Amino acid sequence: MKDGLDGAAFSDFVRALAFASRKHSLQRRKDAEASPYINHPIALVSILAVETGVNDRDTLCAALLHDTIEDTDTSAKELADAFGASVAALVEEVTDDKGLPKAERKIRQVEHAAHLSPKARLVKLADKIANLRDVADSPPAEWPLARRQEYFDWAKQVVDRIKDAPPELLALFDSAYGRRP
Ligand code: NDP
Ligand code: ZN
Repeated sequence: MKDGLDGAAFSDFVRALAFASRKHSLQRRKDAEASPYINHPIALVSILAVETGVNDRDTLCAALLHDTIEDTDTSAKELADAFGASVAALVEEVTDDKGLPKAERKIRQVEHAAHLSPKARLVKLADKIANLRDVADSPPAEWPLARRQEYFDWAKQVVDRIKDAPPELLALFDSAYGRRP
């Protein structure tokens, strides 16, 4: 995949970026500076495309779109219509069931991690790497030390259940986890 996305895939990638930026436009991250939300999906594609060399159209589009169903009014059908059924299915795989209480969702993510498809594993790992880096460098405002540590430990429980992921990506996770506060 060293030759890059072809024209149509690159165009889809840019459409996914524009779609995510529009859907998340009024949202902010939880850090003290309330950074623009879109920085987070961009961090995922940077981890995958720049740091790991992942160059697969569906994976990179799903990374950009990974929080749209969970955190905006986007439906799976909307994603399927715009980007195809495979991208919509990947985003659904990494979407928590918001009908469940938060503590239950955290447990479900650990259980579910063992059953992710290969491309969803890449998105899930990049999400955890990006969030650990954020908790280390620009954590949610007012999270005490114990909560930051708890987040690291939970993220590791999720990642430990993921099977057969690329070693480069697991190494990036280990290095992010190595900065546990
Ligand atoms: P989370 O612990 O889920 O918040 C972290 C999530 O917020 C990340 O996964 C990320 O999700 C998103 N996020 C946004 N901005 C940042 C940032 N700057 N750094 C890191 N992550 C960011 O918060 P909840 O309120 O949903 O937590 C609920 C759970 O937390 C409870 O089930 C409980 O277990 C635990 N808890 C612990 C407490 C404690 O003091 N120890 C107190 C209260 C709750 P995404 O990638 O999806 O955007
Ligand atoms: Zn995310």
